[in-house]
Amino acid sequence: MTLHPETLAVRAGTLRSEFQEHSEALYLTSSFVFGSAAEAAARFSGEQPGNIYARFTNPSVTMFEQRLAALEGAERCVAFASGMAAILATVMGLLRAGEHIVASRAIFGSTVQLLQNILGRFGVTTTFVSPTDPDQWRDAIRPETRLFFVESPSNPLTEVSDIAALAAIAHRRDILLAVDNCFCTPALQKPLALGADLVIHSATKYLDGQGRVLGGAVLGSQTLLDGVYTFLRTAGPTLSAFNAWVLFKGLETLDLRMRAHAAHARELAAWLEIHPKVARVYYPGLASHPQHALAMTQQRNGGGIVAFELAGGKDAAWRVIDATRVMSITANLGDTRTTITHPASTTHSRMSAEQRAAAGIGDGLVRIAVGLEHPDDLKEDLQRGLVAL
Ligand SMILES: *Cc1c(COP(=O)(O)O)cnc(C)c1O
Repeated sequence: MTLHPETLAVRAGTLRSEFQEHSEALYLTSSFVFGSAAEAAARFSGEQPGNIYARFTNPSVTMFEQRLAALEGAERCVAFASGMAAILATVMGLLRAGEHIVASRAIFGSTVQLLQNILGRFGVTTTFVSPTDPDQWRDAIRPETRLFFVESPSNPLTEVSDIAALAAIAHRRDILLAVDNCFCTPALQKPLALGADLVIHSATKYLDGQGRVLGGAVLGSQTLLDGVYTFLRTAGPTLSAFNAWVLFKGLETLDLRMRAHAAHARELAAWLEIHPKVARVYYPGLASHPQHALAMTQQRNGGGIVAFELAGGKDAAWRVIDATRVMSITANLGDTRTTITHPASTTHSRMSAEQRAAAGIGDGLVRIAVGLEHPDDLKEDLQRGLVAL
């Protein structure tokens, strides 16, 4: 029986104890006992499946992994303590010194630091290319290239990458394609179905959806995830049972939340686009977006992130942000509550002014991660600052 995503989100992955609890249990235990010495030996050798020690097995974590795997259509999911731990484990599990990564220039700031500064010290090098020009990816391939890494849509400009085109280029040369699916989640985009080999999540964002816990995950085929799992088992960047429990409860409302985030974001983006004080709006759900057509083929809708540009630069951006009363001024995203941020002085402040200009991140750019409040309240919240410009 093939179940719909809405059904999988509330049903998939459930494990019940002898008490037959209806709501999934939180298993706070670091280790598990065996019925006999022989059973212990069989568990350790892998002959008998089952839990051993919570650095690498815990039923609450397993429930989160199985539910997310069902939603992404993946054979296997390995959970991590954070999105960054998931990205680190992907590289540590699949690459070796001397190998090479081609990555989008428009990826999460800490991912750039990890690839460039930390993994670079261990002999894994990365070339950064345009998220929207597949030819640049093809041209950056070297004999030792092993991984393509992309985020779509990108932060904060919502550039959309052609996942199927990148997969085709990668597979011709036996390269793996990993997609950070944080902005869309499986409710809006399924990278594995588009040809990607790996999906990576910061579960901290929409999968939790309420800004409570950190978490991460890597998804893909059984065999690809062997190395990723071995890194987890050995190095221990493990998702806690409590966070896993929060996260699989969060997944139950993912579909409903993502529909609402996107509907509210679309309404706000359309309002901003015709606002006389706004120079430009970036939202994949608008026909004016440069990759609108592509976005509509690979995403269910435009998602929950909207960015807009003000002609008055940083001064104007800060005035609009400071005039809000409802939105939270924070760089986080994927929360029920709308967040507003000035990328140039926060998330992208580690880049030089020239790097920011090259990436298209102007001083007048404002990013909004649209929450579940009524869109009219959000418009009024922005209007207060906009009319004063
Ligand atoms: C937040 C984020 C990450 C990092 O996740 P953490 O859970 O904060 O470690 C990675 N990628 C994207 C796109 C993000 O937004």
